[in-house]
Amino acid sequence: MERMKKTAMRASLPDFDGDELMKLISDMIMLDKEWVPYSNTSSLYIRPTLIGTDPTLGIDFSQQAKLFVLTGPVGTYYPTGFQPVALLADPEFVRAFPGGVGGCKMGCNYAPTIMVGKLAQDMGCQQALWLYDSDEKITEAGTMNIFVYWINEQGEEELITPPLTDGLILPGVTRDSILEIANEWKKFKVTERYPTMAEIKRSLKEKRLLQMFGSGTACVVAPVNRILYKNIKTNEYENLQIPTMEARPNFMLHFYNTIMDIQVYKHL
Ligand SMILES: *Cc1c(COP(=O)(O)O)cnc(C)c1O
Repeated sequence: MERMKKTAMRASLPDFDGDELMKLISDMIMLDKEWVPYSNTSSLYIRPTLIGTDPTLGIDFSQQAKLFVLTGPVGTYYPTGFQPVALLADPEFVRAFPGGVGGCKMGCNYAPTIMVGKLAQDMGCQQALWLYDSDEKITEAGTMNIFVYWINEQGEEELITPPLTDGLILPGVTRDSILEIANEWKKFKVTERYPTMAEIKRSLKEKRLLQMFGSGTACVVAPVNRILYKNIKTNEYENLQIPTMEARPNFMLHFYNTIMDIQVYKHL
């Protein structure tokens, strides 16, 4: 609700009462409750949406807006177990930039990514790995936040994810949950900073890169097992294999199970 209100403000859409919207959504689910699957593996996807509806051509503050909530029953994201994804990392494409709206869930962030997603698919990958700046910082994967679990250059086990400090990263709720769980476990160092492509390549070469995964509401976690990296200095593609599926302990799986156990009410 906080993220949606922040996004509404940035898009000059009217503010609204988040607690009231929560109550409306709860009432809507009570009315629609037979659409909620009687199952531990499927769920009801809820998408609150806010759009301006002024009948004008000009670009101005919205005087009229519509807030509506779409719901739909969805099946399990992983019907046959985790399906790892391959990511196309092409530094020529940028998802977000300082001063922009990458940190907001705003419609305009998604249309320009569809073509890049298609290019990724044409190259045998599933999604784009979004890089930023000349040092090729890793920012996000498709519409997911990204996590890297490695042995860092100081020899420490570390979970790392990009920070929310410069507006490039969408503040994912799943990202926040993973950080909170990791800090509770205290099994390894937890750091919010950008990994760069050079660091990823070096850690792979030195066999220090253990897992890489995306995070988001729909999938919870999505293993990354390959990066197809376009080296713009040589104009050649480099195929980087990530041992996410083989790594033990499998912390990515522990995050998934912990979050599913919180979300799914089990009848004992
Ligand atoms: C929605 C989204 C995420 C994930 O956010 P969750 O709240 O965890 O679902 C991450 N990155 C982008 C670009 C997104 O649109």
